[in-house]
Amino acid sequence: MILPPATTRSLRLISREFMTGALTGAALLLFIGTGGGVLLEAIEHLKGGNAVIDRTLIAAMFLNVALILFGWFRYRGLAEELSQLSDADQRAKLLSQYDPLTGFLNRRSLIEEGAALFTGSLRRGKALALLTIDLDHFKTVNDVHGYAIGDALLTLVAEKISALVPGSSLLARLNADEFACAVVFDAAYPGVVDRIADRLIADLSKPFLIGETEVHVSTSIGIARSDIDCTSMDALLRTSDMALHAAKVAGRNRHAWFDGAMERSVQLRGELEAGLRVAVPNDAIVPFFEQQVDLTTGCITGFEVLARWEHPTRGAIGPEVFIPIAEGIGLIGDLSLSVMRQAFTAARDWDAGLSLSINISPVQLRDAWLAQKIIKTLVETGFPASRLEIEITESALFDNLPLAQSIVGSLKNQGISIALDDFGTGYSSLAHLRALPFDRIKVDKSFVGSMLDNPDSMAIVNTIVRLGDSLNLPTTAEGIENAAIEERLRGMGCAKGQGYLYGRPLCAAQVRRLLAEKRLLAQRPDISAPPQRGIAPRLAG
Ligand code: C2E
Ligand code: CA
Ligand code: CA
Repeated sequence: MILPPATTRSLRLISREFMTGALTGAALLLFIGTGGGVLLEAIEHLKGGNAVIDRTLIAAMFLNVALILFGWFRYRGLAEELSQLSDADQRAKLLSQYDPLTGFLNRRSLIEEGAALFTGSLRRGKALALLTIDLDHFKTVNDVHGYAIGDALLTLVAEKISALVPGSSLLARLNADEFACAVVFDAAYPGVVDRIADRLIADLSKPFLIGETEVHVSTSIGIARSDIDCTSMDALLRTSDMALHAAKVAGRNRHAWFDGAMERSVQLRGELEAGLRVAVPNDAIVPFFEQQVDLTTGCITGFEVLARWEHPTRGAIGPEVFIPIAEGIGLIGDLSLSVMRQAFTAARDWDAGLSLSINISPVQLRDAWLAQKIIKTLVETGFPASRLEIEITESALFDNLPLAQSIVGSLKNQGISIALDDFGTGYSSLAHLRALPFDRIKVDKSFVGSMLDNPDSMAIVNTIVRLGDSLNLPTTAEGIENAAIEERLRGMGCAKGQGYLYGRPLCAAQVRRLLAEKRLLAQRPDISAPPQRGIAPRLAG
């Protein structure tokens, strides 16, 4: 067992105190032995008797007195030091149980103290609810306002939480911006817990004033209860964390109760993670191709590359499921390069006028070597840079704009085009449009699909096409599902379109057949020829 330093020092002091005590005791005994004799001789001498005072005994007696005095002072000093140390012991103990910033319990103490509450509530026929409370985007507060404001915010949040939950609750800080609250409630009335969670979310979303700075946060809460599926405090923490994740996925700023489906989805995620670790290096995530069409001529201008995973047991899995998982486990870069390599290889002998659009995840834009990796893949597969378009979403620009600008600059230098994807869904800011030298805007399918039924969507699509016009940026509308939508877009002056009207995304072999029918396959290059390693990728066009 490792003892805290203060405790080890106290033990050392206690043993020194014992030694000092023993020494003083021995001195006292000696004093009684020697001092008694000397005193008797002295009294005899004073009475005028002929007793001779033994000088050695006198010296021994004075030595004893000195030893006793030394022992006494030493004892006093040690006792003082020991009392200081027991304060430090107390402090060390407090530090090991409580979060120093907020004074809340830490995770370990919550588990210990919660266990007693857990069994106590069961004995009384009650249930224990564990609320895991997480501030949404707390990192942004630190990034924008600095750590001092971040810490002050956490303290104020802790104060608010204490004020809003029942006094008997256990409160803990689990990590930077995650708090927990254990509340005993009547199992028949979980609505009480709902109301606590709603109150927390509503109150914590009010602005906090820290000095001159106003800080806004929102909160997500996951809740698990001891009487359903949970046998321990540990299990409650784990399940309320899953519920928290579900609340975040559902759009944050809300609370969610744990249910069994969440557990199954965590298991599925684990299975998909393991599957991806095998699938990516084996090129089992493959490119599908969605036609992009010139709205004035109706001709195919190119294809958007969409990743597909034919899972050995679960069948086809869409990118909206596996891309976030690949991002989460750091596989997105390899996945993207594998899909790119396969797509470039397949499209190498398509008509030279056909382009490929590749989706790049915001996570990839944190990789300072991204441009070099893409260019290397182009060179190795012999696909011309001028036929490649990279699609990035607005959200990719928030993280590290200077890095995104440098990556995009390198890509553009090689002749690669850049499109702003899903425009209209995020901030849709003019500043972002200007921040990077985009060549095209893509209007999100959610507006295009509903533009004939929803006047707001129609107005948004119209505004984006006009904005593109005035900035000299052609627009591509995605999600065109019928001819009436296509007609309206053409009337607005939208340059390109894509969607199920032109067909579902196809695999490489299907595209090859389609292009052969349309006579859009270039003369088959000599496949046996080695790829153009080391040649500047600007060559072809
Ligand atoms: P996205 O870039 O917005 O891609 C368009 C999505 O809309 C595709 O879904 C496509 O199949 C679908 N779509 C196309 N036409 C229509 C239509 O007429 N109606 C409707 N309702 N939907 C249509 P998919 O393939 O499931 O891709 C979803 C998202 O996954 C993509 O959205 C893209 O953000 C991401 N993604 C796909 N492949 C990759 C990839 O290789 N790398 C990265 N980073 N993301 C990818
Ligand atoms: Ca896209
Ligand atoms: Ca899109």
